[in-house]
Amino acid sequence: MTNWPSDYNQAWTLAGASERSGVGLHSGQTSRVQLRPSERSGYWLGWLDDPALPLHRLGPECVSDTRLCTALLLGQRRLATVEHLLAALAGCGVSQAELWVEGEEVPLLDGSALPWVEAIGESGLRHCGVRQVPDLPEDPLLLHQGSGFVLAQPAKTLQVSAAVDYPQPAIGRQFFSLELTPSLFVEAIAPARTFGFREQVDQLLAAGLIKGGALDNALVCDGDHWLNPPLRFADEPVRHKLLDLLGDLALVGLPQAHVFAYRGSHGLHTALAAAIATLQVAGFPPGGMASAPLPRTLSPTSVTTGPLPSPARP
Ligand SMILES: [Zn+2]
Repeated sequence: MTNWPSDYNQAWTLAGASERSGVGLHSGQTSRVQLRPSERSGYWLGWLDDPALPLHRLGPECVSDTRLCTALLLGQRRLATVEHLLAALAGCGVSQAELWVEGEEVPLLDGSALPWVEAIGESGLRHCGVRQVPDLPEDPLLLHQGSGFVLAQPAKTLQVSAAVDYPQPAIGRQFFSLELTPSLFVEAIAPARTFGFREQVDQLLAAGLIKGGALDNALVCDGDHWLNPPLRFADEPVRHKLLDLLGDLALVGLPQAHVFAYRGSHGLHTALAAAIATLQVAGFPPGGMASAPLPRTLSPTSVTTGPLPSPARP
């Protein structure tokens, strides 16, 4: 059992190295990731199979595809399915680390962040001073896409909430919210596994995708039941949504905010990370956020900042 940091106010790196290998969900190829300490803040990616390439700092500007997972483009090389590993690092309080990868995709392992938490636990943590927390404007930052949205509002601590609403009765409507600490992340979020739908799985397999998908690394929902129970939590899907949200926010660093995702997606989560990253550079213009430049990645998404309209009174 590791002594996790009590909150996200301090900077931590790994005290040593650890490694995991396994099959990538989409490619079906075996890949390997080594986690190592970093003296610099943020997450830095190097290639075990091409160590001469410079380390690349991960950020929302690296995001190249969010349709089935969060994939990054780092120079000429693509790296898919980074979200569960990044969620584990950020969720456990590790704000800086080097990730050395062999392959094109982070291994899926059991579909949750728990195996990465165990790898981090093996390394142990080393304190690196006070963490640089990304600033947020006082007004809520709201991004929406279709019927989903993400909202971030500064708070004294990190509070994360998610809601999902699926027509499949096995999932239906679920809501989960907590004031996050590294130990609560390890207990309540990290074990939640990725999930998919039987009809979608058949289509993706026919299209040559999810070659590494199996009933032991993803929960598969078939209407009113699960093909591979038992679940780790009755509301495992919404907890996994929070895991994905944290992994995508890790690209900019966890904010001190209440972040709420309703029908969230990697597209929305990474757009929020990109909006926060842009604001760190552009600052918050006096007189409101409306004139702040917003990232290009937001094109399919609408962005609103400022107070939400109050509900009509009877
Ligand atoms: Zn996921």
